[in-house]
Amino acid sequence: GQRVVLITGCSSGIGLRIAVTLARDEKKRYHVIATMRDLKKKEKLVEAAGDAYGKSLTLLPLDVCSDDSVTQCINNVKDRHVDILINNAGVGLLGPVESISIEQMKKVFETNFFGVVRMIKEVMPDMKARRAGHIIVMSSVMGLQGVVFNDVYTASKFAMEGFCESMAVQLLKFNIRLSMIEPGPVHTEFETKMMEDVAKMEYPGVDADTVRYFKDVYLPSSIDIFEAMGQTPDDIAKCTKKVIESSSPRFRNLTNSLYTPIVALKYADETGGLSVNTFYNLLFNFGPLMHITMSILKCLTCSCLRRRTISPN
Ligand code: NAD
Repeated sequence: GQRVVLITGCSSGIGLRIAVTLARDEKKRYHVIATMRDLKKKEKLVEAAGDAYGKSLTLLPLDVCSDDSVTQCINNVKDRHVDILINNAGVGLLGPVESISIEQMKKVFETNFFGVVRMIKEVMPDMKARRAGHIIVMSSVMGLQGVVFNDVYTASKFAMEGFCESMAVQLLKFNIRLSMIEPGPVHTEFETKMMEDVAKMEYPGVDADTVRYFKDVYLPSSIDIFEAMGQTPDDIAKCTKKVIESSSPRFRNLTNSLYTPIVALKYADETGGLSVNTFYNLLFNFGPLMHITMSILKCLTCSCLRRRTISPN
């Protein structure tokens, strides 16, 4: 029969695209339960799903930050049976830490870290009992490598990577697979929302130099990187489908080969000096040429590193 896939955060971006891609599978292998906090925001998804809506795609409300909402949502799934859980919901946070309150930081962890933990705790007992299941987590390159001015977002994704790397061992004993998807930049509302937040930002308690490094050095090179290297939500959906359909899914799955050299630096020098100094030079010495520098790095190393990514095609 069809495998039941439950996805979090489907009103936009990557989650929406994964839901539609799986629901419209040509072999009709999936029943997709697309969830979102507010069902009033379903229109974009319903439109994109076309005639799959109401057949291979159904909707349920779900806020990953609420214990009650998570329990209720899974109770509303037939026999609480979820074959594949896709943890996609997430929020970004950008800017100098001096200007970000601890409350704002906790909100990011509440969604990106505890949201995933809550979901896994809810579906794992049934998966264990059935000795079957696949849990997918939408991590990021920033779950593997720190990125300047993304300090708290990166920390939340690192926390999740650590949690999942630990969980993967016992889950394997129960025949449950766990896979991280680690995209680089993806063109979604995520980027738009973050840029809007940044535009509204004042910088209380931040010195003028830091503000300048953030606004005049980091932001332009970040926008440049999005433009030059960004993937589409459709690319990420195709990668995710590949991971689901693999007979031996990998634990880590980078989707953008331009990032493999950057991630490799960390494993090449366990003191961390190589990563920190390379990022320093990329930002402060190559700033506007950052994406070109990264492309050159990729070309120089692609024959040995490229096969480590998962490609959408
Ligand atoms: P997006 O903002 O379009 O999608 C995030 C979705 O999560 C939204 O629909 C939002 O409503 C939902 N969400 C937020 N809080 C929620 C909650 N408490 N409960 C339920 N849903 C909630 O952005 P996206 O790029 O599609 O992001 C999806 C995932 O991909 C995130 O986990 C993000 O960290 C990750 N990611 C994004 C990028 C990128 O560049 N866009 C890169 C790497 C990883």
